[in-house]
Amino acid sequence: MPASAVDRLPAVRATYSVPLRTRFRGITVRDGLLLRGDAGWGEVSPFWDYDAAESVAWLRAGLEAAEQGWPDPVRSAIPVNVTVPAVGPEEAHRIVRESGGCTTAKVKVAEPGQSVAQEEARLEAVRDALGPEGRIRVDANAAWDVATAVDRLALLDRAAGGLEYAEQPCATVDDLARVRRRTHVPIAADESIRRAADPLAVRRAEAADVVVLKVQPLGGVRACLRLAEEVGLPVVVSSALESSVGIAAGVALAAALPELPYACGLATVHLFERDTVPDPLLPEGGVIPVRRPEPTSESLAATRADDDVAARWSDRLAAMAAHLEVAR
Ligand SMILES: [Mg+2]
Repeated sequence: MPASAVDRLPAVRATYSVPLRTRFRGITVRDGLLLRGDAGWGEVSPFWDYDAAESVAWLRAGLEAAEQGWPDPVRSAIPVNVTVPAVGPEEAHRIVRESGGCTTAKVKVAEPGQSVAQEEARLEAVRDALGPEGRIRVDANAAWDVATAVDRLALLDRAAGGLEYAEQPCATVDDLARVRRRTHVPIAADESIRRAADPLAVRRAEAADVVVLKVQPLGGVRACLRLAEEVGLPVVVSSALESSVGIAAGVALAAALPELPYACGLATVHLFERDTVPDPLLPEGGVIPVRRPEPTSESLAATRADDDVAARWSDRLAAMAAHLEVAR
């Protein structure tokens, strides 16, 4: 691969590696690259199961942050949801109560090995913690077939005292559309946008009421703003479990969208034991303020990856850069 491809990227780089407080997406440690250009720091942190070709979008997002910066915000604070994993009712209640004032909860469902009764108990506990005004959404991560989704959503909607929406109940766009015709619970598309060859298929099939956008996998804030306009549906901005440097890009997207009717899934930094900045992007009063925290030499030193991990990211960056050159 040409050495020149990676040489054209910002030369100030750092690699972070931080333990997670809770196992998430099957991982216990989160790591990634930070690049600093004229516009500030950007994060490039594709998960390890993404190959170089699929990771190019993540690199583009990091380069946009480092070299270009983001469009001007139209709001100064972003309402965010608390995420409730597939835990028992007491734990679910506690997570919502300690969420930093979030009035919207996203509850994971369709966990392998769990019963409907466990999910109903979790939703009842979340409703109790939020009160009648709170909003509850569920995320099935594409786990159900159409019939199961229709059945479960009726039960979970009742247990929750009303669902705001159900995120990705089934895997395919066609199945999302079938479920949507058979339930009154609104449907949100996540995986069908983020890892799809054609994100607009969701709109053509009338498969969703809401779309979930994530800055890194979709190639940057501007790419997401264009996609939002093309899809023409309300947007929920979510994180890809980044450090605050990456979360700032999600905050910038949420801040620049013309409309933001739903709380965003950007309150994930609390899952990190340490952060790459001294003043993490955490919610207060249910919102994250629109700002861009900067790493310091101390915060970078406290989160620095060991030489092995740094070497793996250096190789990975070279591979991503080579793909970026081809794409250009
Ligand atoms: Mg999701």
